[in-house]
Amino acid sequence: MPAASDSGSAQPSNLRYKRVILKLSGESLSAAGDRGISGAEVAQIAAQVKSALDTGCEIAVVIGGGNILRGAQFSGRTNSVQEATAHYMGMLATTINALALQDALEAAGCQTRVMSALSMDTICERFIRRRADRHLSKGRVVVLAAGIGSPFVTTDTAAAQRALELNADVVLKATRVDGVYSEDPEKNPHAVMYESLDYAEVMEKNLRVMDATAIALCREHGTPILVFNFNKEGNIVKAVAGESVGTWIGPKPAQ
Ligand code: UDP
Repeated sequence: MPAASDSGSAQPSNLRYKRVILKLSGESLSAAGDRGISGAEVAQIAAQVKSALDTGCEIAVVIGGGNILRGAQFSGRTNSVQEATAHYMGMLATTINALALQDALEAAGCQTRVMSALSMDTICERFIRRRADRHLSKGRVVVLAAGIGSPFVTTDTAAAQRALELNADVVLKATRVDGVYSEDPEKNPHAVMYESLDYAEVMEKNLRVMDATAIALCREHGTPILVFNFNKEGNIVKAVAGESVGTWIGPKPAQ
């Protein structure tokens, strides 16, 4: 496998986005219908990220942990594990995923750094905004673990938060369906997919795109969100290149 360049790559003039936050759910690392981590799925995602990186775009991946554990599973007073504790467990789950993704990305030829919102000095760097910025500008894929490091939110909020901090042009939210639908398309085959939406519509229609905090943050700062299907080969590259794919949320893209 050829070693990846450490000096960053030239920016093609037709590239729409200079820097993106790619939000991958934990389940993107599992085989369909399964939990945990599948080596084949991780390799497949890593190959797509490598192709996207080769377009010259800077990529920070916010990785979820739902394939292992979500804190909300422990809500309610009757649980022996407190919900706050469970959210920290969820953040550790994202770190497990981040380490798997890091190895797969490096095997695919990317330079990477894992940066965590919680200190885990022996396995990854602590998230420091200016260091993350530097890694990205050198063409490294930065895998962001442990969300924002605080309980009771999800990695969707982390994706929005890091997009603002790192001046990303867009949040690319990778899902198992083609975009945002009027209803759950896995339950209702007649559900309609939206081509574009504004933030207010997402909130008013209570569309399950990202959690409400994430939408509110993006809305307040005008950060666009693109919801698209990562399972379709080539879609991550298309999303990064600004090609028409999925559902666009936010200001209408320039034609
Ligand atoms: N989590 C948290 N704070 C954060 C990010 C994540 O408490 O800043 C916890 C939360 O319990 C969440 C879990 O980690 O449910 C796993 O993340 P998420 O549910 O976003 O994973 P995904 O659904 O994207 O796989």
